[in-house]
Amino acid sequence: QDTMSINGFLMRRIFGSLSTERDRYERQSRLFADIAIRRSLIWRWFTLALGLFSFIGPAAIYWYGGLLAMGPERLSIGTIVAFVAYLGRIYAPTSALATVHVDVMSAVAVFDRIFAMLDAEPTVRDRPGAIELPPALRLEPASDLGGQVTRDRGGEVPSGHLVFENVSFGYRADRPLLEGISFEAWPGQLVALVGPSGAGKTTLTYLAARFYDPTAGRVLLDDHDLRDVTLASLQARIGMVTQEPYLFHASLMENLIIARPDATRQEVIAACQAAYMHDAISALPEGYDTVVGERGYRLSGGERQRLALARVILKSPPVLILDEATSSLDSRSETLIQRAIAPLRAGRATLAIAHRLSTILDADLILVLAGGRIEERGTHADLLARRGLYARLYEEQFRVAADLP
Ligand code: ATP
Repeated sequence: QDTMSINGFLMRRIFGSLSTERDRYERQSRLFADIAIRRSLIWRWFTLALGLFSFIGPAAIYWYGGLLAMGPERLSIGTIVAFVAYLGRIYAPTSALATVHVDVMSAVAVFDRIFAMLDAEPTVRDRPGAIELPPALRLEPASDLGGQVTRDRGGEVPSGHLVFENVSFGYRADRPLLEGISFEAWPGQLVALVGPSGAGKTTLTYLAARFYDPTAGRVLLDDHDLRDVTLASLQARIGMVTQEPYLFHASLMENLIIARPDATRQEVIAACQAAYMHDAISALPEGYDTVVGERGYRLSGGERQRLALARVILKSPPVLILDEATSSLDSRSETLIQRAIAPLRAGRATLAIAHRLSTILDADLILVLAGGRIEERGTHADLLARRGLYARLYEEQFRVAADLP
């Protein structure tokens, strides 16, 4: 799979290592063929022996039985015939028994792998007595809930209030990656994460979706520690657009509907329209039935992002996590994505990783992550006025953009 996948193949081509890869593939295939041939030869010999026995066996019985019949024992003809008949009945069970060993050994190898998989303990799981988050209010993309929503609004606590309380985390216990992260995002607010590559921005969003648990501190959604709620009810509240959205080898419709299996075709189409993806899909000869994924029609980077947005629009979760694509999209794709995101943000808490700072000028809070800590926080104007890391990053991008022809 690794060798024949399109990405793997492209990589080998780029690095000119197709011949080494071909050699490796040939070696493995030859080994496999040799084993298969040996196995089949052994089986041939075995059936040959068994076949010979089925001819020689009755002859031997007739010969020896004949001697006994003519001798003083006076064995009856019926006994000899019965013996030959019994012999015939032994063949089938004997050959079945002989294959049992082979079958058992292959099954053991398979079960070893299956049980290793089944026995793997997930690091993140529902704790006993975990509570269900109540189903979130379904927001339409063009909801009028936008802007700052406060806790007192009509006495009702809006769903989708995300809080990080002094959170620390590291993939390895001895190497902390994030330390003392605290911030909150209210429904309708955009909290942007910026910072150098490898600063831990993606990791922070993984903590918000509880792909990992923090090593210290708490992540809260609507005042519930994420560790106290069921994973299923949490997943229903969080929508994510990752940098490289994954497409299954299935039709576009099937790829979209995973976001909400009960959605109608009209709803899927409406979501694609809101994500500026409908026209691109309609232009395909098979439209929504086009098979995509690794072995199917390959969507462009911008189209994949828009498809991921359509999935999120369909799901309509109260918390949005957006990881902006690092690969630069053409300006049309970029504009379409920004246009699709703007109404989607209304009424939702949005956590966005921004590589192009132009996309977060209106963020309610910008967190500048560096060295595992929040170096700076504030709005775009605050941070520019501070003339710190953010101002430097912004000016760098601005200068690069200005230098471009
Ligand atoms: P970028 O802007 O380049 O996407 P980022 O700020 O989002 O970077 P992260 O993806 O959060 O950075 O990664 C932070 C660090 O954690 C990196 O050094 C990365 O190598 C490391 N890392 C990421 N995932 C894992 C993992 N599963 N196990 C161990 N280390 C990891």
